[in-house]
Amino acid sequence: MSPSARHRDRIVIVGAGLAGAATACHLAANGHRDLVILEKERLPGMHSSGRNAAMIRQVVRPTAVARMAREGARALAELAGPAAGFGFVQNGSLLLGSRAGLAALRDELAGAGALAPDCELITGEGLALEVQALEGCRAEAALWTPGDGVVDVAGLLDHYLREARRRGATLMTETQFFDVVREGDRIVGVQTSAGYIEAGVLVNAAGPWVGKVAEIAGASPIPFAPLRRHLFFTGPLDDVDPAWPFCWDVENDWYIRPESGGLLLCAGDESLVAAGEPDLDPAITNLLEEKLQAHAPGLGDLPIARLWAGLRTFSPDRSFVIGWDPRLEGFFWVAGLGGHGVTTSWEVGRLAARLIGGKAEPMASSFAVDRFEDR
Ligand SMILES: Cc1cc2nc3c(=O)[nH]c(=O)nc-3n(C[C@H](O)[C@H](O)[C@H](O)COP(=O)(O)OP(=O)(O)OC[C@H]3O[C@@H](n4cnc5c(N)ncnc54)[C@H](O)[C@@H]3O)c2cc1C
Repeated sequence: MSPSARHRDRIVIVGAGLAGAATACHLAANGHRDLVILEKERLPGMHSSGRNAAMIRQVVRPTAVARMAREGARALAELAGPAAGFGFVQNGSLLLGSRAGLAALRDELAGAGALAPDCELITGEGLALEVQALEGCRAEAALWTPGDGVVDVAGLLDHYLREARRRGATLMTETQFFDVVREGDRIVGVQTSAGYIEAGVLVNAAGPWVGKVAEIAGASPIPFAPLRRHLFFTGPLDDVDPAWPFCWDVENDWYIRPESGGLLLCAGDESLVAAGEPDLDPAITNLLEEKLQAHAPGLGDLPIARLWAGLRTFSPDRSFVIGWDPRLEGFFWVAGLGGHGVTTSWEVGRLAARLIGGKAEPMASSFAVDRFEDR
């Protein structure tokens, strides 16, 4: 094999968030050692993967993503611990809503073989007893998922990158992807801020920038939407039990969970913004207050010690995009993980690595890139 042909086995991954890192970890474990991860920032995880609520939530839509979430949660529960370098506290979750709405969600997932183990519908009266902060909450029922919880997300990202590097992958921080170099219809290399890198495969795991990377490369023009969402932290509070499950009102879209002696809260906001560093919306605190007043009056007036925002990036049908691009040979997508990229990261990386390695996977068609071709 000529040196040039050898380097075309190289895989370059754009983005060291959870999507890129988990893909690198699984590729390396499957024997792909010639891997380069490009990250434009000084450190990995500075965007969506470092600004989320770190919750592992299995009961989600669509059903294909729920299957990834269930398998992802199972894998993380098995792996977590001192040796892996990250923890996963499984206090469970309560999804709040109407009895009919939650029963329909449970039945839809059960029918598709995607329901989390031990998931159970409980009625409203018992909810305040489970979580004192929910006193006065107007939800009719809850779905209780005992295997859900909160993961140390920085430790998880570090785990993926460490495992990839231990097996030979190179992480290049402060290195920006600029363009692909082609021969005919296929990729033979990439231009970066650190120079030219010969490679036969480019993995687009650029989070909110996936659309931009595809546009530069001449891959399929999928209109991804980066949606801004804010999170609030109260600082330490009396009477917060760290053993509470996370509580998510899925009909009115707000959630709370214990965090560092206080509460982490979210008003479930979604606004379309450009990929980048999101500004804070000055009206966001009002939205949170209005939602809590209407749906969980027992929470009362809460102090806000910290407020930040991050981007959840969605494809047009809000499902993941994982697979080869139909227009550009060598271009692979791991994109649009929306609000479930922590929970599903293990499975996303596993599926992506199998497909890049040419293996068949039953899940592949649910996330295929060509579903957007006729739009
Ligand atoms: C407020 C909020 C709460 C959330 N809560 C949860 C939750 O509780 N549970 C859950 O499962 N998910 C949650 N999520 C979703 C989860 O955080 C995302 O799905 C996940 O982090 C997406 O990872 P990513 O690797 O695709 O993107 P990112 O983490 O954004 O990574 C993409 C990386 O690509 C790099 N990059 C981009 N362009 C280039 C380029 N040209 N050259 C080099 N590098 C480049 C960027 O710098 C970035 O580091 C939440 C998200 C937000 C914003």
